[in-house]
Formats: sequence, C-alpha cells, structure tokens
Amino acid sequence: MDLFEYQGKQLFARFAIPVSPGEAVTDVDAAVAAADRIGYPVVVKAQVQVGGRGKAGGIKLAADAAECRTYATNILGMDIKGHTVNVVWIEHASDIAHEYYASFTLDRAAKQYFGMLSAEGGVEIETVAEENPDAIAKIHIDPVDGLTAAQCRDWVVAAQLDASVTDAAVDVLVALYRFYVEGDCDLAEINPLIVTPDGRVHALDAKVSLDNNAEFRHADWADYELTQERDVREQAAYEAGLQYVGLDGSVGIIANGAGLAMSTLDVVNQAGGTAANFLDVGGGADAKKFVSALTIIDNDPRVRSIFINIFGGITRGAEVANGIVTAIGQIDLKSPIVIRLDGTNAEEGRKILEPHLGDTLQMAPTMLDAARKAVELATR
Ligand code: GDP
Ligand code: MN
Repeated sequence: MDLFEYQGKQLFARFAIPVSPGEAVTDVDAAVAAADRIGYPVVVKAQVQVGGRGKAGGIKLAADAAECRTYATNILGMDIKGHTVNVVWIEHASDIAHEYYASFTLDRAAKQYFGMLSAEGGVEIETVAEENPDAIAKIHIDPVDGLTAAQCRDWVVAAQLDASVTDAAVDVLVALYRFYVEGDCDLAEINPLIVTPDGRVHALDAKVSLDNNAEFRHADWADYELTQERDVREQAAYEAGLQYVGLDGSVGIIANGAGLAMSTLDVVNQAGGTAANFLDVGGGADAKKFVSALTIIDNDPRVRSIFINIFGGITRGAEVANGIVTAIGQIDLKSPIVIRLDGTNAEEGRKILEPHLGDTLQMAPTMLDAARKAVELATR
C-alpha cells in the first residue's frame, strides 16, 4: 500500500526522522489558515501518488497569504499524470544547501534489505542510475544482523555526502532503517534529503510503501486504507474482499490462488491475448464470491471473454462448480465464459457444469486450450 507524502511524513516524525511541521488540507481557506498558523514562507504541495509533482506545477513556494491562496486554488483539483489533487500539504518552506537521496527497499533475489544513498538527490533516482551510476552508494543488509551506526558512517563516506553533516546523516539513516523494519515498509524513500544552510539534515519528501502482509500488526493502517486511490473496479473488488488488480486487456481472469492467477496471465499472453485483470478468488468456493468477481469483470467495458481457471486443492472442484453455476444463474453476463477445472474432485465438478454448457459457458480440458478459446472469443 502506497502512502501519500503527508502520511509518510507523519510516520517519519514518529520515528524521529526530521521533517517540517505541516498540515494536510482539502480546501483553499483551510490551506491559508494552515499557512497562517505555520508561518511564511510555506510550500504548497499537491498530494498525489506519482513522482515529478514539482515539474508538473504541483509544488509552489508561497511568501504570503495571498500567494498561498493563489497556489492552493491552482493546485487543488489539478490533474497530475492522471491523478486528481484532492489534498494539499502545507509546510514551512526550507532553505536548501544540498539535495541528497536515501532509501531502503527489499532485494528479493538477494534475500536482503537494500539501501541506496546519493549526493545527487532531488532528481529521479532512475535518472541518476542511468547517467551517473557511480553517484549511488549501495548496501545490502542482512535482516538478522541489521544495520549499525558504524556501517552507516562508512556508507555516508562512500556516498560522498558533505563531511560536515556526517553525524546528522548517520542519525537519519539509522532512524530511517528502524522505520523501514519496524514500520513494515516495502519502500522507505527520502528524495530529496536536504541539508539546510545551517547544516541540518532533513526529509523534504517522503515516499513510503507499506507491506500489506503486516497489516494485522498495525491498527492505524486502517486510516491509510480509507485514502487509497483505486479505480472503480479496484474499489468494488476491495469492498468484496477480492485480490484484484485492474489491467487493460480484453480477457477477464478468475483463478484460485495468486500463483495460478499469475500463470493464467502468462498463458493468456502465450495464446496471443491480453488480460483485463488479475483476480485471485482465494480459497473457498461460495457463489457470493463468484458473483462479485464475475460482476466486477463483466462490468469492465474492455472485457470480451472471461477465463475461469480453477485447480481444486483443499477447495474441491465440485463445490467450485456449484458456486459458479449458482453465480451464473444470478447475473446476466455480457461476455462468454471459458472454464478449466482440474485438481481435487474435478471429474465431479465437470459433471455439474456439463448441463450448463453452451455458447455462454464453455469448458476446455487444459489451461492452454482454455486460454486459446478465451482469446479467440475475445478477439473475434
Ligand atoms: P516531487 O517532485 O514529487 O518528488 O516532490 P518533492 O517534494 O521532492 O519536491 C520537488 C522539489 O521541490 C524539491 O526537490 C525541491 O527542489 C523543491 N522544494 C520542495 N520543498 C521545498 C522547500 O521547502 N523549499 C525549497 N526551496 N524548495 C522546495
Ligand atoms: Mn521527491
């Protein structure tokens, strides 16, 4: 789950990572009132989950209330790369001597945490990686060993940060690492991490992605769920408790298990088609789940056919078949369905489906056959 900058900064503050005090507001009057409280100059910052807000005109320095009003008026409602600005963050403006970059993420292949630090911050790290890769100091961290202040010190030296801020930079990195681990982040990134003319090191931006698997440990994450940006399809799926990701192809996909759902995307590609979504119905086979899943997929105007790919495991094929038959009886589908049913109890499941087969419900013996059929139906 990706957070907005202001949410990331609120978490940073709890872990003693230095940030400017500020307020998140949703209308112009509240923006000016917040700026009056905070004290000028302030920065008015568009809260959207996309980088490059500055270049897009979504970040402005306001010297007084009149400027703040103008910028808040312009930025609220602005479209930045397809994201509408509904919230602006007002914070006291900082003076900048240097802009650095710092982040922690997970290197899955190495099974270790991965830190990047650079004196070339303020621009996208992908650009630095391309144009000046040596300017990024990288470290791998064994999750069991953790990261010590001494290691951070070497890292700061390797990144060639200004020597006068070494101690302050080490403090920020130690705190950011603790936040990354204890905060259950997938990504904790500060870009830019600034040095002020009086030598303070300070997070001017916050990009945080939380590991949803750790949600049970964090009651406060419920607030972040409420502000998540989802498209209409994703919102409906979220409310139905389905694991769903919207894509832009024409074959709707339902599978049980995330691994099978991903393989299904691959096999649809292999058959020359494109997937409209990723959807894992998970375990269980009740009709209600299939009704929700089929409704969300069938309401997507791009969808031309639906591929249900089920491998019975603990959930038996017969139960799945009954669930699907009941669901199909309850909704008036626009797109034809192709089913592949295998695994535990598949034979019995197929017998249940048999009397319902026809143009709108077809069955195929293998995953590849089903994919070919679904792609053919989607492209004719
Ligand atoms: P992004 O463009 O979406 O990554 O947004 P950032 O929060 O990183 O801000 C982009 C740029 O705006 C920064 O790199 C700074 O150069 C500038 N900026 C942001 N806040 C301030 C501030 O308080 N003072 C000054 N002088 N510049 C700022
Ligand atoms: Mn930034």
